[in-house]
Amino acid sequence: MQSLTKQCLSIIKTRPQESHKGTFGRTVLVGGNAQFGGAIMMSTEACVNAGSGLTTVVTDSKNHQALHARMPEAMTVDWQDKEVCDAVLASADVILMGPGLGEDEKSRELLTYVLQEQTEDQLLVIDGSAITLVAQNNEQLPYPKQTIFTPHQMEWQRLSGIKIADQTEEMNQAIQQKLEATIVLKSHRTEIYSNTGCFYNPLGNPGMATGGTGDTLAGIIAGFLAQFPHSVDTINAAVYLHSYIADQIAHDNYVVLPTKISQALPYWMKKFE
Ligand code: AMP
Ligand code: MG
Repeated sequence: MQSLTKQCLSIIKTRPQESHKGTFGRTVLVGGNAQFGGAIMMSTEACVNAGSGLTTVVTDSKNHQALHARMPEAMTVDWQDKEVCDAVLASADVILMGPGLGEDEKSRELLTYVLQEQTEDQLLVIDGSAITLVAQNNEQLPYPKQTIFTPHQMEWQRLSGIKIADQTEEMNQAIQQKLEATIVLKSHRTEIYSNTGCFYNPLGNPGMATGGTGDTLAGIIAGFLAQFPHSVDTINAAVYLHSYIADQIAHDNYVVLPTKISQALPYWMKKFE
């Protein structure tokens, strides 16, 4: 397995003069039930700060006011409003599904709907509770081939069937091949499994062990895929930069607040362009 290095950030390019918001992609985030509004807010903040050209959030209407107050750059859609959801999903380049989605019947219906609506030229990132839903309903929820899953070790146990203690490189790789997806397996040493090889992230620190760090990573991955090539290099860069920034913050902070990582993104992307 290869270690990621700073070199992986070379996918971050200077923005062309003749560009507009459409140049940098449309990202649609789906998640945030009435209980877990914070998760989708943190993904949204990460995605907007990562440079997604247009970001729309499909979420429970209870989250709209807080989202508008915190992130006026993002648009919000009530997930009950099927007509608007149809239009928004059809326009997406990248769909991030799962942060704070929940695991109840309504969440499952929404995931089923997104999987049905999704077209071949769109990329799907599946995080959080949506991973558990796919694991529970494997046969009924077929996902497209280039789908990216971002499980932590327990979510990977559910999806792959491999117990955490048995999650070796060989086992993980074998299941990745079977799933025909890209896997970002998050831990103190995150590993990325794809058809083009396996990588591990040498960066990161225990200050990141707090709720919302994974939601933030999922938002960065989606925002990067919206504007940079649809390849594992782009996912590697998102994983690396997320931890790189967290390590900068950890120099003089005991805990790394996920929102601080998001807020520092534009600065560090500029440094590495
Ligand atoms: P989640 O469990 O979905 O919130 O994701 C946790 C995120 O924090 C992942 O990106 C992990 O790689 C990162 N993380 C958590 N704990 C550590 C640690 N001790 N060292 C490095 N990264 C960590
Ligand atoms: Mg998570």
